Amino acid sequence: MPEPKRRDFLAAAAITAAVAAMAEPKKAEAGDPAFMNNVPDPLLGGKELPTFKFALEKSVGKVVGKSSGKEATVLQLPISKGIAGVSMTLEPGAMRELHWHATAAEWAFVLEGRVRTTVIDPRGYAETNDFEPGDVWYFPRGHGHMLECLGNEPAHFILIFDNGYFSEFGTFSISDWIGLTPKPLLAKSLGLPESAFDDFPEDEVYFARGPAPSAKPLMPLQGWRPPPHTHRYQLLAQPPHRVFKGGREWRVDSTRFPISTTIAGVILDLEPGALRELHWHPSADEWHYVVAGQISVTMFGSHGRYRVETLDQGDVGYIPQGYGHSIENIGATPCRVLIGFNTGVYETIDLSQWIAGNPADVLAKNFGKPAALFEKFPKRDVFIADKGGLGKPSEGHE
Ligand code: MN
Ligand code: MN
Repeated sequence: MPEPKRRDFLAAAAITAAVAAMAEPKKAEAGDPAFMNNVPDPLLGGKELPTFKFALEKSVGKVVGKSSGKEATVLQLPISKGIAGVSMTLEPGAMRELHWHATAAEWAFVLEGRVRTTVIDPRGYAETNDFEPGDVWYFPRGHGHMLECLGNEPAHFILIFDNGYFSEFGTFSISDWIGLTPKPLLAKSLGLPESAFDDFPEDEVYFARGPAPSAKPLMPLQGWRPPPHTHRYQLLAQPPHRVFKGGREWRVDSTRFPISTTIAGVILDLEPGALRELHWHPSADEWHYVVAGQISVTMFGSHGRYRVETLDQGDVGYIPQGYGHSIENIGATPCRVLIGFNTGVYETIDLSQWIAGNPADVLAKNFGKPAALFEKFPKRDVFIADKGGLGKPSEGHE
């Protein structure tokens, strides 16, 4: 029998592999970036677009004393596969215990009160920071951290995670781990007598309660070993990124906040009647939390599909990567929207900019209209349109 050629052997191996793959199709889920752009999402493949709104603050979530966590994951908002969010309140003296997330990085924006955090990284660098309203933190996926209310007022903050399947109630908590590990193993692992672990909590603590923290952070057991990149960014202490007659926007991504390599954030303020123009994000999903006011969000989903939702204060919205959308203040008061993106670098393509990037004859042919009409279109990016017409950019700094 002639020896099989190597080529034949490889072909046979390839067929075997292909058959195995057919028998057991590889599951591709959103959240796995390798597949996100390629595998059709059945939820987005129907005749109608699904809802992209969830009333987060009207939900109950997890409550311990006066501390609470309410979450928006794919369970509450099925479209939000790329980003999950949490509204968390810590009462004075309360701490969200030491924990890590195996499957998500954490980005936060402080709305009220003050928060202290500690975070450890794989090189053993640890950072303690204090946060005030308008400040942002970012903890990379898997890095251990804790959150503590500072002072006598409750702290309220919004957490954003770069994975819609991530649940804040499924974190790896230190008390859960220690409580499940046999005492002899703990004693051996930490070089202590078993009695050192007497009366430790048996169940996950989640929210720990105790005295208010010291005014200044105390030194860690290992001494001070600050990391090369800070985990804190004071977003609202900066001048707005762009200012228009109808509104303004603060923006933070890894270009300004280097550690934040997977999440970017925006605070968008719109006057009544003002509009963040039609646009899309080529490289990120978008997650909304309405801090104040009432907005109308439109979503364009291709193939004749279009959906509009009204979001009130405390509501969450979600726009999948690449889907066209706009945000309009339809209330009587100024609105503020916290917007998160699962990307380290913010990118947008605005309708006005796209049109302005084409000559009039191309636009005339596309729409079957006279070229002269398109000479009246904006010659540059509009970004925010005032209710009285196009907003004039002023003192914005790129
Ligand atoms: Mn966390
Ligand atoms: Mn957007």
